[in-house]
Amino acid sequence: MNASSLAESGHVIPSVHNPHEHQRRGTTVLESAKGVFLRDANGNTLLDAFSGLWCVNVGYGQDSIVKVATEQLARLPYATNYFGFGSEPSIRLAERLIELAPKSLQRVYFGLGGSDAVDSALRFITHYYNAIGLPGKKHIIALERGYHGSSSTGSGLTALTSFHRNFDVPLKTQHHIPSPYPYRNAHAGDDAAIIAGSVSALEAAVQALGRDQVAAFICEPVQGSGGVIVPPKGWLKAMRDACTRLGILFVADEVITAFGRTGPLFACEHEGVEPDIMIVAKGLTAGYAPMSAVMLSERIYQGMADGCAPGAVIGHGQTYSAHPVSAAIGLEVLRLYTEGGLLANGKARAPEFAAGLDDLLAHPLVGDSRHIGMLGALELVTDKATKAKFDPELKLHERLFKAAYDNKIVFRAFNDDILGFAPALSYTESEMALLFERLRKTLDQVLGQAEVR
Ligand code: PMP
Repeated sequence: MNASSLAESGHVIPSVHNPHEHQRRGTTVLESAKGVFLRDANGNTLLDAFSGLWCVNVGYGQDSIVKVATEQLARLPYATNYFGFGSEPSIRLAERLIELAPKSLQRVYFGLGGSDAVDSALRFITHYYNAIGLPGKKHIIALERGYHGSSSTGSGLTALTSFHRNFDVPLKTQHHIPSPYPYRNAHAGDDAAIIAGSVSALEAAVQALGRDQVAAFICEPVQGSGGVIVPPKGWLKAMRDACTRLGILFVADEVITAFGRTGPLFACEHEGVEPDIMIVAKGLTAGYAPMSAVMLSERIYQGMADGCAPGAVIGHGQTYSAHPVSAAIGLEVLRLYTEGGLLANGKARAPEFAAGLDDLLAHPLVGDSRHIGMLGALELVTDKATKAKFDPELKLHERLFKAAYDNKIVFRAFNDDILGFAPALSYTESEMALLFERLRKTLDQVLGQAEVR
């Protein structure tokens, strides 16, 4: 197949797409990548300011990862972890994760990606409460603007209408309370009031449903796909503590935020939060192979174990759970973050990243800049005083995406005028400067369009 027939081929169903638009636009075929640059089949070299899909935290083409993956493929490309088998890389990776993760977490179930990990967590929660004799506890509370994947159950916790429409979710047991969303919160500017608002919304939801009916609260420490919403300092800890008081589990979905994305290895570390369950994926293998992990407290695992009669099994598993090649990659990726200096490099770049975003607050299109570590967003508005959004008919996100491509930079243009950024932790100072040079050019070009002005 030549380049244009690849681009026009319609057999792959893309993730989250408009079928008509996709048919018209075709596919931008990515061919190769090195460092933080992607090369497409049209011969463009694009600066990746989004780490693929907030996952390639270590940059592309890390030779040491290729080496361990190749060696593992040659040594043992697959090992089941059914009927008592396992592999050295997956056992060592679990050990390492438990060593590094908040102390509350003691057991690891490996999955393939964030969505199936969320589903595994939900199955474990159901199993746990049934096993310990609290079968009424079935309701799960999540946040508006939250994202928890697109599995048949987890998609109901995701709070994006396109993930619900025609999919028959949310389920009756799935609920959403308002996102803290500092920029558009009624208490904007008053962090304590924003935090108190979230806590009382959770308390009210639990009270309305009944404590004995609610299993868990799940949230991202920083909401990603909902528009990179950084809650006020102290919010996560307040929600954790509220869950303890209310007798429900606290589940941290760190699929985006883990592995240095917000600074420390896990975002929970900012506030010393110890979740009952933590879900990670993306940065775990930095996108070099599919893998996720659900980390559980000993209490949850033991609850399930105690409820398992001799001769019975906990019927949850996947052919590729604890895949040895992914696990070997995960171990090397963890080494790159820690001994390899990438966490430190991400922390060194973060102030430049923050300053670059904040400088753009002076741009006529930009209403809000928010960031934590190497995760950030700009929110575009037509009027900074009223925070008015653009007319959806303008399709601002498409204009931005196109202008960005022309300027050879890739970031996430959400369809509600929010631009998301997640540069790799391996960015150099000059690459960070290039990001803002190209981003500013892109914003200026879009501002220059007659329909937008
Ligand atoms: N949870 C969160 C917080 C996510 O950001 C994502 C993916 N963006 C998922 C779950 C689902 O992960 P995946 O796309 O790997 O299934």
